Amino acid sequence: MNQTTMRRPLIAGNWKMNGSVAANALLLDCIRAGASGLAADLVVCVPAPYLAQAQAALSGSAVAWGGQDLSLHESGAFTGEVSGAMLRDFGCHFVIVGHSERRSLHGETDAIVADKARQALACGLTPIVCVGETLEEREAGQTEPVVSRQLRAVLAVLGQQLGKIVIAYEPVWAIGTGKTATPEMAQQVHAHLRALLVGVDSDAGSGVRLLYGGSVKPDNAHDLLEMDGIDGGLIGGASLKVEDFLAIAKSA
Ligand code: PEP
Repeated sequence: MNQTTMRRPLIAGNWKMNGSVAANALLLDCIRAGASGLAADLVVCVPAPYLAQAQAALSGSAVAWGGQDLSLHESGAFTGEVSGAMLRDFGCHFVIVGHSERRSLHGETDAIVADKARQALACGLTPIVCVGETLEEREAGQTEPVVSRQLRAVLAVLGQQLGKIVIAYEPVWAIGTGKTATPEMAQQVHAHLRALLVGVDSDAGSGVRLLYGGSVKPDNAHDLLEMDGIDGGLIGGASLKVEDFLAIAKSA
């Protein structure tokens, strides 16, 4: 059986630090209304203060919601942090882990990202683990070593839970820049990541959804998402515009 066709596409929106109660209400209602009958799963990862609003607006719909980060810790004196249990309390099924903005702006190392993925799973959340190279690393021919290192750190802590994660390949130079990897560039890295996954466990590794992220828009989504081995997208800016987000989801 072709393993690629077994993986249902996933389109995940990363709102980043955007939104307001008023703007979210319209966006969530329209996403809910537009989501039925899609061939892809949809999730929106919203800022923590808006989780209750997402839960109220999306409960009972085809759209899941999630967080953009979680604490390494279960509870306690960690001012400002949000635990995995708190995300679960608000009905989240997903959480983004190791986004490049967390790595570069908040000093998250491969080891921290791996621990966060493990903590997410321990809390019953599906981590969407982000990996990707900088422009400098790509130009130095280091793309595969960098994403391998990032992924191996996570694989090392997963034990039997490999099949429960999602991976997003997000070249750092393509995030929020309007520059996107060509479908062939993305596919090549996806094939490399897939080989690492199946090398650990061929069954579980074949089932892991591998998303592409980095300036995905309605006009490039189809070419990226039709590539064999690209199982969906992690969408930043375009996830804030309902027509764009749904158009991308329809391309999947
Ligand atoms: C992201 O934030 O993960 C992302 C891919 O952003 P954008 O789509 O805006 O490049």
